[in-house]
Amino acid sequence: MVVIMEVGVREAQIEGVIDHLNESGFDVHRSSGNRQTVLGAIGVHPEFDIRQIKVLDGVAEVYRVTEPYKFASRTWKRENTIVRVGDVEIGGNEVVVMAGPCSVEDADQIEKSAAHVSACGASVLRGGAFKPRSSPYSFQGLGLPGLKMMREAADRHGLSVVTEVMDASQIEAVAAYADILQVGARNMQNYSLLRELGKSDKPILLKRGLMATIQEWLMSAEYLMVEGNTQVILCERGIRTFETHTRNTLDLSAVPVVRAKSHLPIIVDPSHGTGIRDKVIPMARAAVAAGADGLMIETHPDPDKARSDGPQSLYFEQFEDLMRQIGLIAEAIGRSVDRMKTA
Ligand code: PEP
Ligand code: MN
Repeated sequence: MVVIMEVGVREAQIEGVIDHLNESGFDVHRSSGNRQTVLGAIGVHPEFDIRQIKVLDGVAEVYRVTEPYKFASRTWKRENTIVRVGDVEIGGNEVVVMAGPCSVEDADQIEKSAAHVSACGASVLRGGAFKPRSSPYSFQGLGLPGLKMMREAADRHGLSVVTEVMDASQIEAVAAYADILQVGARNMQNYSLLRELGKSDKPILLKRGLMATIQEWLMSAEYLMVEGNTQVILCERGIRTFETHTRNTLDLSAVPVVRAKSHLPIIVDPSHGTGIRDKVIPMARAAVAAGADGLMIETHPDPDKARSDGPQSLYFEQFEDLMRQIGLIAEAIGRSVDRMKTA
C-alpha cells in the first residue's frame, strides 16, 4: 500500500499514520522530500480496509498495490488454468461452446436441442431446471425431472451438462446430474452458496453479477477457491447500465481485463448480455475475437413458444450460422472451436 501525505503536514501527523500502519502489521518505508512525504506500507493483508488510513489526519491518497484476492490472481498462479470436463478443456486453445435452451421444458424440447447443438459442434448442453426468474409468477423450471431429462439427452449426444444451482440445498441433486454447476448472476454475491460450492468437486461456472465490478466478481471466485475448489470458469453476461436498447450491456472489455488479472478461464454469454436474438451473433463473434475461452448461447427448437427467454433464443438455423462464423474468427486468432473438427 502506498500512502501519500498532504503537502505541509506536521511531523506528528506523519508519525500518527506510521504508528497506525505498524499496529496493523505493516512495515513502513518513509520517503520525505522537501514538501511531501510518501509512505510505503509493506505486508500482505488482503483483509485490510484501506479506508482506515484514508480517514487519518494529513493523508491525501492511499493506493492498494496488491489485489485483495489471492487464489484467483495471476500473481499467485502465472499459467492459465484449464478446467477439464470429460474430454473438453475450458481455458486451453479451443473455444468451447455451451448451448441449449434457457429452461428445460420437456423431454422432446431438450432432446431436439441436444441433437442440434451437438451436430453443430457445441460440447456442453445448457438449460435451467431451477430458474431464477425475476417474477414469482413466471415458469420456475421443472426441477429434478428436468435435470434427468437433460442428462439423458446430453448422454445420447456426447455432451456435458451445465445447469444452475440456486440454493445450497440443491447442490447434491444438481451435482448428481450436471458436470458443471452454474452460479447465476443474481447469486454471484450469495457468499454462503459460494462457500458450499467451494467444497464441491465439480467445476463451477460463475456468472458476473448484474451490478458487479470485475474486482467483486473475482472476490466471489476467491470465495469458491478458498474452500478448495480451483475449477472455476468466469462468465461475462452483461451488466446493468443506463442503456435501454439492450437488456444488459455486454462488457467485452472484461475479457482482456480478467485475462490480465486472473489465470481463470473466461467465457461470454451474449444471449443474456444483449437479450435480443439479432444481437447475439455479432456479439458472439466479438467475444471470440476478444479472446473469450468459450460462449454460452441460448437456442430453442421453437423460440416463439419458449417458456423463458424466447426473444433472445436463436432459431436452430441461426445457431448453425453462429457456429460457422465463430469457427472462422477462432481460426483467424490461432484458435479453433472445440469439436467442430469432428462435427
Ligand atoms: C441462465 O444462464 O440461465 C441465467 C439465468 O443467466 P443469468 O444468471 O446470467 O441471468
Ligand atoms: Mn435465460
